[in-house]
Amino acid sequence: MNSSTFWMPFTPIEAAKNPLRVASGQGSWLVLEDGSRILDGISSWWVNLHGHGRKEIAEAIYHQALTLEQVIPAGLTHGPAEALAEGVLSHLPEALCRMFYSDDGSTAVEVALKMAVQYWWNQGETRRTRFLAFEGAYHGDTLGAMSVGDRSSGFSDPFRPLMFDVAYLPWPSTWDNDEDIELKENAALKALDEALENHGDTFAGLIVEPLIQGAGGMRFCRPEFLLGVQNRMKAAGLLVIYDEVMTGFGRTGEWFSCVKAKTSPDIVCLSKGITGGFLPLGATVTTKKVQDAFLGDDSSRTFWHGHSYTANPLACAAGLASLRLMEKEPFRKFESWHRELGEALQDHPRIRRFRAMGTIAAMELLSDGSGGYFDASGPLLRKAFLDAGVLLRPLGNVIYILPPYCTTREELALIYETIAAVVEGL
Ligand SMILES: *Cc1c(COP(=O)(O)O)cnc(C)c1O
Repeated sequence: MNSSTFWMPFTPIEAAKNPLRVASGQGSWLVLEDGSRILDGISSWWVNLHGHGRKEIAEAIYHQALTLEQVIPAGLTHGPAEALAEGVLSHLPEALCRMFYSDDGSTAVEVALKMAVQYWWNQGETRRTRFLAFEGAYHGDTLGAMSVGDRSSGFSDPFRPLMFDVAYLPWPSTWDNDEDIELKENAALKALDEALENHGDTFAGLIVEPLIQGAGGMRFCRPEFLLGVQNRMKAAGLLVIYDEVMTGFGRTGEWFSCVKAKTSPDIVCLSKGITGGFLPLGATVTTKKVQDAFLGDDSSRTFWHGHSYTANPLACAAGLASLRLMEKEPFRKFESWHRELGEALQDHPRIRRFRAMGTIAAMELLSDGSGGYFDASGPLLRKAFLDAGVLLRPLGNVIYILPPYCTTREELALIYETIAAVVEGL
C-alpha cells in the first residue's frame, strides 16, 4: 500500500510521508495496523460524538442503505430528511423553523452567506452584500467561508484577490480568572457600534462562532457578549449568523451554543457532529422571517442553490440515530471532570489561560515561539502526545481536549496525565 496518492488536508506534503495507518476504531480508541492503540482526544477533528464504531449508527446506515440510498432532493422528499430536520429543530430556539441541507461545514456557511445576501436583495436592498466577522474566526476553506475567516494565519494569502470585503471586529477572548474581560468586551462592542454607524447600510449581517472560536485557538467568549452583539444587530435590523459547526450538538455543555447563551440567531450553520461523525452532512437553519423573503411567484426570488447529495438519506439516518444517543445528554458530565482534572495543570508554570466549557478544555503553553497556529511548539507537542498514545492536535501553543462523549473519566484522566508528562518533559 502506498500513501503517496492521498494528498492530505492541512498537511505539508513532505511531512506526510509516514502517516499512522489506522485499521479500526472502538469507542474512544483508534487501533493502528500494527495493533497499537491511541486514545482519540479530539473526536477525530471534532466530528465524532459518541465514539468510534457505534453500532446504533452503523445499523441505521445499513438499514437505510437497503431501503433508499439516495434520491434527487428537488421536489422529492423522504422520511429521514424530514425527521432529522424536525428532531434538530426541536432542540433549537423556537424561531428557527426551517432547515436547508448541504454537505459539510463550509457549504453550510456558504448557504448562510448567500441566504443572507439574497434575503436583502429580494427586498430591493441590493447594496447589502458585506459581512461583519471576528478576528481569529474560522468558517471553512471554500472561497466564501474563507473570506469571512481570519486572514492573519497566511493560509488564505494566495487567494486574497478572490476574497470579498469583510469588516473585522476584535474577539474578546477569555479564560479562568481573566480580569480584563469587560474592557475587551466593551472595545469589541464599540467597534461594532462604529461599524454599524459608519457603514450600516452596506451590511447583510454578522457571522460568529458562538461562545468558542474553534480553529482560531479554542478562544472562548462570554454569553453576555453574544447578547450585546445580538441587541445591536437587532436594533440595526441586520441578520446574525451563528456558525455552530463545531459548537453544535452538545460541545459547549448545552445542545447548542445559542441555547446556552440564551440568544436567538437568524441563521445557524451545522455540520461536524450532526451524523455522530459517520457521514458528511451540513445544514443551515433559519427563521420564518428569513424564509418569507423568498416567497412569491417571481422566480428571481427563489434560492437557486443546491448540492447533488442534499439530504442524503444515509447521512440523515445516521443523524437520527446520533440524535437518539444525544437525547441521553451524554455531554453534560464533562465540564466538572475537566475542572477537577485540570486543576493541577492550571498551576504549572508553563501553562496559562486554562478554560473549560462543556466538553471542551483548552490551555496555552508558554513558549519561546510566535504563539498562534504556526508556533513551533505545535508539531513537537503533537508528536510527543502520539508517542505517548494520545491523539491531540494542538493549535500552535494551544493544547485542547475535545473528547467523544463515550469517553470515561479514567480515559480523560489519562489524557490530562499525558499532557502533564509531556509538558514536564519539554
Ligand atoms: C470545521 C469548521 C467549519 C468547516 O467545516 P468543514 O466540514 O471542514 O468544511 C466551519 N466552521 C467551523 C466553526 C468549523 O469548526
